[in-house]
Amino acid sequence: MLRQVNGGPVQVIRIRRSDVKFLLVGAGLSGAVIGRKLAEAGHSATVIDGRDHIGGNCYTTRDAETDVMVHVYGPHIFHTDDEEVWNYVNSFTTFMPYKNRVKTTSQGQVFSLPINLHTINQYYNKTLRPAEARDFIENEIADKSITDPQTFEEQAMRFVGPDLYEAFFKGYTEKQWGCSPTELPASILKRLPVRFNYDDNYFFHAFQGMPENGYTPMIEAILDHPSIEVKLGTLYDPAMAEGYDHVFWSGPLDGYFDYELGRLGYRTLDFEKFTETGDYQGCAVMNYGDRDVPYTRITEHKHFAPWESHEGTVCYKEFSRSCEPEDIPYYPIRQVKEKALLADYVEKAQATSGVTFVGRLGTYRYLDMDVTIREALDTADAFLKHAQDGTAMPAFVMNPL
Ligand code: UDP
Repeated sequence: MLRQVNGGPVQVIRIRRSDVKFLLVGAGLSGAVIGRKLAEAGHSATVIDGRDHIGGNCYTTRDAETDVMVHVYGPHIFHTDDEEVWNYVNSFTTFMPYKNRVKTTSQGQVFSLPINLHTINQYYNKTLRPAEARDFIENEIADKSITDPQTFEEQAMRFVGPDLYEAFFKGYTEKQWGCSPTELPASILKRLPVRFNYDDNYFFHAFQGMPENGYTPMIEAILDHPSIEVKLGTLYDPAMAEGYDHVFWSGPLDGYFDYELGRLGYRTLDFEKFTETGDYQGCAVMNYGDRDVPYTRITEHKHFAPWESHEGTVCYKEFSRSCEPEDIPYYPIRQVKEKALLADYVEKAQATSGVTFVGRLGTYRYLDMDVTIREALDTADAFLKHAQDGTAMPAFVMNPL
């Protein structure tokens, strides 16, 4: 049955037979979770990925030389307030207690992040107590003339003021995003809390942890179902879709359309790996706030698994740059010009039948792992409901705009 929605033909799938065939493009969290849920509902799923491993950018593997578990595409710490998602991931692997405690090197000193009472007292060489620090920042430092911060810079000036902004955020953000914080949305900085006590937990979520053996076995376990077939080293070809009732696309949204309207902007990362013995930096993540240090952070992977013990240590120096056609996209840049192009791609997607766009790349949003899983579960539910009701499955379950 074909229906016209948004001017385009949209195929409505009614579940009459038990086995609907799905193609999931991308073997990261979105593809695995949607595939699993649909397989459990009695359907069959083929998951393909152009790379030779599952897990997308969450992929972890042991370093051959040191046996340290390495987050190959940069640090991933699982944190969430969503109890259902927490229970979901814990049903596939063992999570070890882990709290992300980040340090930053700036202006010749090491400070604690996120900005907390220790950071404030160290920076201003004071011994303020919580209420005093709040009063000091709010009444002497912060720019209270900003009532509704829109940009990253305004958000920083309003809540921590110019000194801490310059020391910890301005240079780092220019390196990370390749533009001025005046051009970035406040939402990026809202990812980080500011605390007026000595709590240096980087996240403010109820649940936090690290999978005991990395993310790869967790995603392997999600994909381990008799009705799921995984094909690695397999690039998507539009002709493939013909063998399936519906496609879930977790690759780049613009990539699905062969970039015909132009390329959405992404940042990619380069990692300079080095190995040492012992403890290189004493923590998992050391950020570098100064603009003249070319990298944003150094990750020392063995500190993500404090329950293990290793002689050697593996570190990644992380450099951010603009994503070119052959690079792996990491961070969607959602500035004004990208948003205009995004709107055009969204319109195209909504006029295309038989495909739903999911995940960080498919919806061009800066999603954390827990949100990706939540949306993947909701997407699979939405598909089953639409199929039951005989209504069209939309191109997006979450609006990317
Ligand atoms: N950020 C910063 N300085 C830091 C850490 C973060 O300016 O030391 C800014 C930067 O713009 C970054 C954003 O805050 O992109 C979000 O930081 P988060 O640690 O969540 O980034 P991720 O680990 O996802 O790269």
